[in-house]
Amino acid sequence: MATDIVTVGNYLDGRFVPCDGAEYLPVMNPGIGKQIARVPLSTAVHVEAAAESARAAFPGWSGFPVKERAQVLYRYRALLEKNAQSLAQLVHDENGKIKSEAMAEIEKSIEVAEFACSMPQLATGEILEVSRGVECRMDRHPIGVVASITPFNFPNMVPNWTIPNSLVLGNAVILKPSEQVPLSSLRIAELLKDAGLPDGVFNIVHGGQAAVEALCDHSGIDALTFVGSTRTARLVYARATARLKRALCLGGAKNHLIVLPDAHPEMTASNVAASVTGCAGQRCMAAAAMVAVGRVEHIIEKLCDEARKIIPGINLGAVISLKARERIEGYITEAEQQGARVLVDGRNCVVPGKEDGFYVGPTVIDHVRPDMRIAREEVFGPVLVILRAETVDEALKIENSSPYGNAASVFTQSGGMARYVIERARAGMVGVNVGVPVPREPFSFGGWNESKFGAGDITGKSSIEFFTRLKKTTIKWDPESGANWMS
Ligand code: NAD
Repeated sequence: MATDIVTVGNYLDGRFVPCDGAEYLPVMNPGIGKQIARVPLSTAVHVEAAAESARAAFPGWSGFPVKERAQVLYRYRALLEKNAQSLAQLVHDENGKIKSEAMAEIEKSIEVAEFACSMPQLATGEILEVSRGVECRMDRHPIGVVASITPFNFPNMVPNWTIPNSLVLGNAVILKPSEQVPLSSLRIAELLKDAGLPDGVFNIVHGGQAAVEALCDHSGIDALTFVGSTRTARLVYARATARLKRALCLGGAKNHLIVLPDAHPEMTASNVAASVTGCAGQRCMAAAAMVAVGRVEHIIEKLCDEARKIIPGINLGAVISLKARERIEGYITEAEQQGARVLVDGRNCVVPGKEDGFYVGPTVIDHVRPDMRIAREEVFGPVLVILRAETVDEALKIENSSPYGNAASVFTQSGGMARYVIERARAGMVGVNVGVPVPREPFSFGGWNESKFGAGDITGKSSIEFFTRLKKTTIKWDPESGANWMS
């Protein structure tokens, strides 16, 4: 093995530690198809050590006032900004997305950390005089130890969806990053330590299924968040809640963009193309299916022109693995065999100088029928399917029939039609003339249906409910007054 291959360790009690007895997996740089690290597959024994570290740190950390905890987050936010270039480089190396997309990811992490700094103002308690001389107050308390399980597609941002908010609200955290992109989490640990977070409040266990199952089962872990595919989200939600944990599990997506004949042609074409190909289509908010209503040939033509301008290796990154590339290409070939027309074909893509990288070019497939597998399943690559509808109601029927419900968008210049569609779309995040309708802080992120299991959302104001529990106190200030608390 080459010596420049990093061996990743778990992070417990403020230190990186070797993962004794574990098996290891290679970590690849998808852009060039070379191994850059090896990651351990932690077992229940390693999860036990992380839980011990977090439990021991929890009383001290939760005992600080929220304003004091926010000071750590201020410093963390500043460190993310100061180190943005190197953090983006790391995301580029382990995930394969292009540098500007990696930088946008870090900017979003900064925004979430910034939101956590405002928690002293947002997560206040309430007080009311319920009777003469008697008051009730309600305060927010941390839940305890929170496990956060994250996917490969945003190695820095998705961990940061949960880490700053759960920490500032007084919890201790165990992160289980995707085994495909473990390196960004190591820098997150270092920056939190540099920001002054006490040892043990933040921990990392690396690995896959066995580590996640142990996190679900461990009685010392109080709550669990998960972001990943629907298949895994469902399993994890069932397992964690069966162990009586609070759980919120975000799953996959198949996002529909409904394009009406009056849509602005250039803006629609460029927005749809950017939504499909951004992060090589590996975004749970990516456009996956365009429902073309009536005569929109002129928009489809422009869309294909836009797609052809997107060049793999330059403004289109790699997909995560060779296996992912084969899976994506398999979907395209199957659709073609079933009678769909491939207008822009991204199969067999080779990037000069990066011949071993895992690239799929932009792909647009027309005349896809709703019953085809490519129309129903999440492809998670830079692939757009076009389905045809005669009316907006027919288009909505297609959108509504998806088992997912992350995002939906409508492209039109008619306010009335836009409102008609957004009121009827079955998705948690909807857009009008926006290809990627991600809500910004303080609004929260979360889909509907099989794109999310559990109540509330994972970021923004909604996350305050998830990361805290309420204590209600009734106080009679003057025992002599004879006031009954019900009087
Ligand atoms: P994944 O489900 O394969 O893995 C996610 C996490 O679960 C990883 O940490 C992985 O180690 C772990 N895991 C994998 N198999 C497991 C099993 N059988 N039991 C327990 N844990 C297991 O997802 P991925 O491929 O890393 O990420 C891509 C998926 O994530 C896509 O479906 C995408 O839509 C989704 N995603 C959703 C959101 C959202 O906000 N809804 C955001 C980002 C990504």
